[in-house]
Amino acid sequence: MKPCAFEYFTPATVPEAIGLLERYGEEAKVLAGGQSLIPMLNFRVARPKVLVDINQVKELDYIREEKDELVIGGLTRERSLEVSPLIQKKCPILAEAISYIGHLPIRTRGTMGGSLVHADPTAEIPVVISALEGTMKVVGPSGERLLRAEEFFVTYLTSALEPSEILVEVRIPTLPPNTGWSFMEFSRRHGDFGIVSVAALLFMGSQGRCQKASLALGGVAPSPLRAREAEKLLSGQVITAALIMEAGVLAAQATEPESDYHASAEYRRNLAKVFTQRSLQEAWNKIKGGK
Ligand SMILES: Cc1cc2nc3c(=O)[nH]c(=O)nc-3n(C[C@H](O)[C@H](O)[C@H](O)COP(=O)(O)OP(=O)(O)OC[C@H]3O[C@@H](n4cnc5c(N)ncnc54)[C@H](O)[C@@H]3O)c2cc1C
Repeated sequence: MKPCAFEYFTPATVPEAIGLLERYGEEAKVLAGGQSLIPMLNFRVARPKVLVDINQVKELDYIREEKDELVIGGLTRERSLEVSPLIQKKCPILAEAISYIGHLPIRTRGTMGGSLVHADPTAEIPVVISALEGTMKVVGPSGERLLRAEEFFVTYLTSALEPSEILVEVRIPTLPPNTGWSFMEFSRRHGDFGIVSVAALLFMGSQGRCQKASLALGGVAPSPLRAREAEKLLSGQVITAALIMEAGVLAAQATEPESDYHASAEYRRNLAKVFTQRSLQEAWNKIKGGK
């Protein structure tokens, strides 16, 4: 099918883009990489009267380090993040997770901002940004707002963005040297959307104890899910195989999966347990191996 007719604008600056979104309100949609929006237009699941293509807003395409944060523009391509030496060094879990997204042409077009605003609960970037406790900077006609991941992701395919707002920037803390990390996902074939994914971070403190754990799961709730009870169990502890097993059980208990044609709710819950255990083990192995 072909999309419904729409008016098309190519603003060159953020204020220009916001002005257009304000003028057309709910009739307008931002177009970034188009890897989610264009199929939705073609299937007529989305029927905006106006497209505001932000691909000429070059000021939104950057990756930089500021103090102890990585700062990423909303229009930065997934592939740019995947191959960025800075991301690979300071936040390798993000580069690793992105390598699971679709295939190379999709990552070459798809953007950080588009993936976050699209808010698919099985998408890799939202899961990692939740585990990393990233902050989203959104700008609209009445100024800018900073939203934490749990405020940003509202439910299935819904973010807290207002129709006339643009996601301009994402800030994520750089990982301290002694951090174990792992991203794992189960999908039928590499490149398919994940059925269940897990991002695990173990921040080590003194005397071999885990100071803080952060665990986010995809595909098991309407938005990325933080496994808070499992995190509490691990925090302040010396990590052992028994603790890792128990954390997996707690993470699975926190899930609210639904059955669909990919997997039953019960199967997803079991994957949540097993993949939490495996990813924690991998994160722990990285610390033990000094990587
Ligand atoms: C075959 C195929 C396989 C894929 N596989 C995966 C996968 O395995 N994992 C995965 O996570 N994704 C997958 N994707 C989706 C891909 O990652 C998309 O690029 C991403 O979800 C959306 O990013 P985009 O830049 O293409 O956004 P677009 O499609 O342009 O936009 C998506 C939504 O976000 C809004 N938007 C975009 N940018 C902004 C912004 N800066 N501010 C405000 N609103 C904005 C748009 O209005 C729209 O509602 C796949 C896509 C295809 C076609």
